[in-house]
Amino acid sequence: MEDTIESQRDVCCDVCDANTRVAGYGNQFGSLQALWGYGSAHDGERYRVHLCETCFFGALAYLRQERRIASLFDEEQVDKDIGFGLIARDDLFGES
Ligand SMILES: [Zn+2]
Repeated sequence: MEDTIESQRDVCCDVCDANTRVAGYGNQFGSLQALWGYGSAHDGERYRVHLCETCFFGALAYLRQERRIASLFDEEQVDKDIGFGLIARDDLFGES
């Protein structure tokens, strides 16, 4: 239900406050979210951060960099960097 509401109202980026609505195509944004459960230090806390395209890929670049540092001596790191976080391409209708 919440997603339905989001599709109707404008969604602004939680980082730079840009409106993510693209004329004729609705809101185009990424999100970082978590629902922490029993056993976690943040049990019962829910998080959701909406990100415009620029901020989303900025965050992704930061995370990729963090992973690069964490796996500095891993010989396969170059291959792992390609498409970090990407789970589908040419999925124009959100079917996967
Ligand atoms: Zn932004």
